[in-house]
Amino acid sequence: MPTAAKVLIDGPSELIFDYSVPKEVTALPGCRVRVPLRNKSATGTILSVAENGTVDFELKPINSLIDPEPLITEKLIQLAQWMATYYGTPLEQIMRSLLPGAVRQETHSAKTRQVAELVQIPDEETLEKLSRRASRQHAILQLLKDSGPIPITELGGASVRPSVKSLQEAGYITVRNEEVRRDPDAGDEFLESKPHKLNEGQGAAYKAICHAIDASLDRKTGTEDPASSPKPILLHGVTGSGKTEVYLQAAQHCLDRGKSVLVLVPEIALTPQTVQHFKSRFSALQDQVAVLHSHLSQGERFDEWHRIRKGEAKVVVGARSAIFAPLPRPGLIIVDEEHENTYKQENPPKYQGRDLAVVRAHLERCPVILGSATPSLESFQNAQSGKYDLVGLPERADGQSLPLIRIVDMRTETRKHKGGPTILSDRLRMDMEKKLEEGQQVILFLNRRGFARSLQCPSCGHVCECQHCTVPLTYHRTEERLICHLCGYQSIVPRACPKCQDRSILLQGYGTQKVEEVLRKVFPRSRLARLDADTARKKNAVRDILRDFRACRIDILLGTQMIAKGLDFPNVTLAGILNADLSLHAPDFRAGERTFQLLTQVAGRSGRGEMEGEVVIQTFTPHSPSVQFARHHDYEGFADQEFDFRRQFDFPPFSHAALLTSKCSHERLAEFTLQNLHQRLSKDLPSGIELGVPNPAPTPKAHGLFRFQLLLKSTNPRTLSRHVQKVLAATTLPEEVTIVFDMDAYDFG
Ligand code: ADP
Ligand code: ZN
Repeated sequence: MPTAAKVLIDGPSELIFDYSVPKEVTALPGCRVRVPLRNKSATGTILSVAENGTVDFELKPINSLIDPEPLITEKLIQLAQWMATYYGTPLEQIMRSLLPGAVRQETHSAKTRQVAELVQIPDEETLEKLSRRASRQHAILQLLKDSGPIPITELGGASVRPSVKSLQEAGYITVRNEEVRRDPDAGDEFLESKPHKLNEGQGAAYKAICHAIDASLDRKTGTEDPASSPKPILLHGVTGSGKTEVYLQAAQHCLDRGKSVLVLVPEIALTPQTVQHFKSRFSALQDQVAVLHSHLSQGERFDEWHRIRKGEAKVVVGARSAIFAPLPRPGLIIVDEEHENTYKQENPPKYQGRDLAVVRAHLERCPVILGSATPSLESFQNAQSGKYDLVGLPERADGQSLPLIRIVDMRTETRKHKGGPTILSDRLRMDMEKKLEEGQQVILFLNRRGFARSLQCPSCGHVCECQHCTVPLTYHRTEERLICHLCGYQSIVPRACPKCQDRSILLQGYGTQKVEEVLRKVFPRSRLARLDADTARKKNAVRDILRDFRACRIDILLGTQMIAKGLDFPNVTLAGILNADLSLHAPDFRAGERTFQLLTQVAGRSGRGEMEGEVVIQTFTPHSPSVQFARHHDYEGFADQEFDFRRQFDFPPFSHAALLTSKCSHERLAEFTLQNLHQRLSKDLPSGIELGVPNPAPTPKAHGLFRFQLLLKSTNPRTLSRHVQKVLAATTLPEEVTIVFDMDAYDFG
């Protein structure tokens, strides 16, 4: 029976057509093809292949295959289709993420070089003749005899070509083409690392994971229900509990069983240590690790990608988009620091990499480990409800204690030092002096990126909040108003603090650059480095700073959340958080959670070596739950009270929150379009969907476009997504307006 292939055509039109498959062509899902389209030729990707028995008209045949083999696996096509419905994104756009330009463009190909190889040694007499008359040919033969095949380039440039040619014609040597890998880490050496002996907690976690791996393998061949996938495992281990070692040994177990491993990290540049650990364990002897990140050249990406596809690279480490790595048979997926927001892709196609890891693991029927010291409340809720298995590592790896955390109330500090905002409290300054004198290192953290400013009273700490959402109101200068970014509630800007009547109520804020200035004055002899988005722009800056810090060539490392990700420096005994309130007062229901995570993570950088660690947290709201629970290393306590708040207002994890945004250079048009959509959405609104009202975005104008947004909540994300897609499809939108739908939104800015 003839077969037909469903082909997704490249390009923005989202066209899917059936084509017949000529007998001589082996067409499989994931193959790239050239097909006829309206008297022209187009390229596309095969989504599925089926027997074509029922089609009663003649299909046009596929012209040709672009690559002989499928570029992505069937499971990845399924993942793409899941994303298309869940996130309401065109499949073609998703496919472009799955098949990066470096791989799909026909201009890219494997790099080859010519290699000369000895076929036979001429007899003594000929050799002797050569050595006299053609010494170069003689030398080449000797070289090939002594050291085996050699690339022509290494025999010595273009000048040897004639000699090589003569030898080739005489039948003494052959020249063949050989693929060369463009290795992004060429030149880097990785010392082999031996497994640590696991402590008791690690051992139990390791066993649980191995059990899940084995069960998933047995299940596939056994008689059990094939639809059942192993439960995701939430590995909740305190900072320094040795989660990496558990990942490494679990990965080894998986490799021993002939399966490959996919590891997601929040950001390659900021987690060089994790990458290094995997390289050292699995690549020191034989290069089994592929690293995917945004700084690869097109050629390197092409090669790494094909190495993964062919199963040559058995361990893949990468940032969120590595979830699309074409591993043929993953047996384990690991998401390190699963709470990190960097897993959320904010450019289209929008997706949450951690969530995709869970979906892909389900499709592949393999276990997935979500690891963190501060799990996202979404994952923790899933563990509590029994959807995930929970494995805990409550102690640090070799018995160190968690650092002692001190809270400094900045309200009293400000009173002490009249005038200007205080950056360093006396307590923090004295602790720094002591540690620096003892030759130990200090990490200072200030989160100054991307948050709208809120109004706070410096004397009582009061922050102006929304009556309906209990999130801080954001100051809008143009309207001279305080506005709630979730529900749209507005209030006037008070002249004095509504709570204590102090008239010095002001907008919060200073940044890392200002801090650097201050530090250079206070600690003129200490070596200081600043790591934030500005300083990281320089090539290799992050790597160099972290390397110098590790080598103790830097005493104080000052930075934004860039320094909060999994760094393990044994000589750091003090971590200072300059203003814990910045993230607390972001216009976002996750503000409390993010603050707790940041405080716990930054605190966790301290005291990881032999010496005990200390932490100083400066805050205007010392009694906020985020600060208090972080101080006592009490994740469960924090989660409990935060759950109460989320439940009360139907926020995630008790619902899915989606954001619909309109953007346009004409303010009225952006507003009107969203109001129009709001009206249409409210008609036949499926039950269980909570529809907010359109409002200006916290950043009301960005890149020259005015932005309005609308919050939707539902316990059923698919119904929500479907309803929005239906309304969008039935609405003719003004050409100038861009509408963005963000399912499971994280960025409310
Ligand atoms: P986490 O990621 O959980 O914060 P790490 O994986 O960075 O912690 O481990 C913290 C430190 O403990 C590392 O320096 C690591 O080498 C060490 N470590 C891990 N497991 C063990 C063990 N079983 N015995 C001794 N030290 C260990
Ligand atoms: Zn509100």
